[in-house]
Amino acid sequence: MPDERRRYLMQQMELGGAEILLPRAQPAESEITMAHDNPAASEAADVAEAIPKWKRGAPPIPGPGMTVLSPTAVLLGNDLGALPTLDAVAERIRTTYCCDLCPSRTHAVPGEGNPNADLVLIGEGPGATEDATGRPFVGQAGQLLESILDAIEVPRSSVYITNIVKCRPPQNRKPLPDEIAACLPYLHRQLELLRPKVILAMGGTAGESMLGVKKSLGDLRGKVHTYNGIPLVVTYHPAALLRNPNWKKPTWDDVRIARQLLDR
Ligand code: URA
Repeated sequence: MPDERRRYLMQQMELGGAEILLPRAQPAESEITMAHDNPAASEAADVAEAIPKWKRGAPPIPGPGMTVLSPTAVLLGNDLGALPTLDAVAERIRTTYCCDLCPSRTHAVPGEGNPNADLVLIGEGPGATEDATGRPFVGQAGQLLESILDAIEVPRSSVYITNIVKCRPPQNRKPLPDEIAACLPYLHRQLELLRPKVILAMGGTAGESMLGVKKSLGDLRGKVHTYNGIPLVVTYHPAALLRNPNWKKPTWDDVRIARQLLDR
């Protein structure tokens, strides 16, 4: 307590003054010590708050894989390259038969989503629910895909979702090489129009078809490939995760790599 105040109080006491209750003295600002003045604790708290959940423990972005270029419009051997919009490509898909899968379809499934999407997701081909509705990934695998997107804080409405083949293969069998070859030009044109920041190929069929190789999913995962200059990550297909939940963890790592690429 400063001397002058002490002296004043002593005087008051000696003079028989009434008891004086002083409020507790406030420490000077420089004396205030709070929990966050512990630098280590405060840094940890700040870091935990700033880092989104999906990023905690995410693997670092891996090194480069393959680099591929899509065939040019001329090589596509048709006028797809001249279709000016995603809607025009979708209309062409819906009104054309390009392979043996087309005649048995209920609906073609061109793809859907944000035409300005930063992220494009590519599956194998429509299943029963997709064939019935004309929309991609709306069955069970689609629900799982939406949970995965939620977990990396990417709304479904912000991405574009499509498939390698746009018509349902019978009994959900894998599309045959000639069916893939007939349908791929649509996807190349879609990607040319979309020019996303990142592509996520889901499943072996999507990975192999996008990269034009015959390799195992194990060989294709864990690298950042480049398709027409766009980073491309390969992961498991959501339907495979429904069959084998052990693949959820590696998928979680893959999508977090894709998510980090979006932030680059
Ligand atoms: N599986 C796919 O590959 N695509 C869909 O649209 C639905 C299920």
